[in-house]
Amino acid sequence: MNALLSLWRRPVRQAALPGKLMRFDSAAAGTLSTADDLASMRPAFVRSLSRQFDVELLAARLSPVLLEDESVAIFSLAEHVGSDQADELERRVLASGYRQSDPPRYILAAPLLLAVARNQITPRSLASNPTLRVAQSRTALAEAFQDLLEWGLRHSASDIHLNVHLNEPESEVKYTVSGRYLAPDRFRRMPTSTLVDMLSVAWMDIRGGNGAVFDPHIEQQGSLVKQVDGQSLLLRWASLAADDGPSICLRLLRRDAGAGLPGLQELGYLADQIALLDRVMLSEGGVVVMAGTVGSGKSTSLASLISRLPAHRKIITLEEPVEYLIPAAIQNSVARNLNSAAHQSYASKLRALKRSAMTDVLLGEIRDVETGQAFMDLAGSGVNVYTTIHAPSAAHIPLRLASDFIGVSADFLATPGILKLLVFQALLPVLCQQCALPVSCLPDQDRHPGNHFHSRHDWNVWLDLVRELYGCGGESWRIRNPDGCSACRKERLPDLNGYAGRTVVAEIIEPPGGLHQQRSAMDCAMHKAGSGLIDLRDIEIRFHAFETQQARRALHQNNAEPATRLRMVT
Ligand SMILES: [Zn+2]
Repeated sequence: MNALLSLWRRPVRQAALPGKLMRFDSAAAGTLSTADDLASMRPAFVRSLSRQFDVELLAARLSPVLLEDESVAIFSLAEHVGSDQADELERRVLASGYRQSDPPRYILAAPLLLAVARNQITPRSLASNPTLRVAQSRTALAEAFQDLLEWGLRHSASDIHLNVHLNEPESEVKYTVSGRYLAPDRFRRMPTSTLVDMLSVAWMDIRGGNGAVFDPHIEQQGSLVKQVDGQSLLLRWASLAADDGPSICLRLLRRDAGAGLPGLQELGYLADQIALLDRVMLSEGGVVVMAGTVGSGKSTSLASLISRLPAHRKIITLEEPVEYLIPAAIQNSVARNLNSAAHQSYASKLRALKRSAMTDVLLGEIRDVETGQAFMDLAGSGVNVYTTIHAPSAAHIPLRLASDFIGVSADFLATPGILKLLVFQALLPVLCQQCALPVSCLPDQDRHPGNHFHSRHDWNVWLDLVRELYGCGGESWRIRNPDGCSACRKERLPDLNGYAGRTVVAEIIEPPGGLHQQRSAMDCAMHKAGSGLIDLRDIEIRFHAFETQQARRALHQNNAEPATRLRMVT
């Protein structure tokens, strides 16, 4: 039987081995964070024995390494250092007559481990080039980048954040999974020099980027397409030149047409909201604006909305870049970054668009004067326009459009028929229906991640307040089970225990005169909490505290409606 297979499959067998009954304590492992650490380790490392032990396929996580004193150490990723596989590998190394090194195991970051395991780093290359910039081949760096992407795709991450600390040996890689900003063990300690090299290699494939090379000292934007796990993945790259070093955010967008867009109902829109959207989409001319904060899923909803249009409408999109493949739409990616050539290409694309005799246009996002002008130009020409904007509520959309940053004139917005529908949406975590707890458990379950406000609550008083505010008994309210269950638990991501995805909560205003929206997005969330789908505490985190809600209501009753100001522009 293949030795490698036996290593993958065979269960722990320490029990059969005298003197090896104890599990390996991860704290006893040495750490080799950087190539410098590797160069200065004593006894010095000689070469990887991955090939000799036929474990080359494990190279991304474990490698036996021969040291100068002829002992053998196990080099490992942090998360595998105490694993059954490491135990098994060590057993085989000892069984073949090698002596164990002291310490017996070392933790390395993924790119460094891979380079050692593949003998891409040798003592000689380290001596001649301690910073390792040459020794780490482009392939190893590209593979390390691929590894980051694979982890993200497998855990349904929406973003990867590479926070480079130029003045420190180690930097961090974090992910946004289900709206939470998390640091998996595996990528917690990345050598800064490796990370910078990896980003330099990744930037070589960028499209529509500003700058021929990755530059940690300027803001850069662009996009690139990668094949990961047989899927096409579009990465939208945006870097921030922060004081400590660049912070790169990669938005992960699945590009496979076969993946299919989720329907509005699947996303979480309620039946009456979908009916309103469908009614308004039927009429020609006017704008549907979808608002939300960053990562609120507004682009997904808009793409889903547009895919409902009938076949006799000609749909063209202008996006930066195209995020979802929309059946039947003619999609255009435009790069509109900081250089002037890109702005000219945007302008000429827009001119060409207007000669295309389309009925419907998706305008990626309105965020500055240039896109504001494009918005007025298209909306004024009588086509249907769909767009997104960053705004904190549906009622704020006209104010945001009329702001100095965007500069759409108030007169234009007040023109009847221009603003057709104002939508605001947020995404809230959905409780795992297999393990959610009744709300009566709340006083005993106040472990809610990172929430100081909630840690000193009298929960019974709080629940009474919510019941009074919404005039209901709250019998079917449920809360998150922080221990999760087999249906919802994710390996090494305890913050996500008890959750199963996210759902849209939305509010919709139909101007003019539609300012009396029936239901705010927070009310929509409360409606879903009434079906046991959402934890009340998550509603407070996303919107505001119920105590604040109480104070606002009191204010409301004493003052004129706050929407009065909006009448000017709608
Ligand atoms: Zn569960």
